[in-house]
Amino acid sequence: MTYACPSTVTVGAYVLGVLCARENTEFRQHAVGCPSCQREIAELTPTVRLLAILKTVPAL
Ligand SMILES: [Zn+2]
Repeated sequence: MTYACPSTVTVGAYVLGVLCARENTEFRQHAVGCPSCQREIAELTPTVRLLAILKTVPAL
């Protein structure tokens, strides 16, 4: 992480879809102009998708 952004901690919650509507809108507006958050979203999104797929697989 070369660019430190205080909102980067919000990326995980945003990608997981657990932000409230207002927070979601505010974060999206911020992320549009923040390369650091854009990169975090790009890095976390595939992971979250994978976790979502794994959650649908019954535990052995
Ligand atoms: Zn940011």
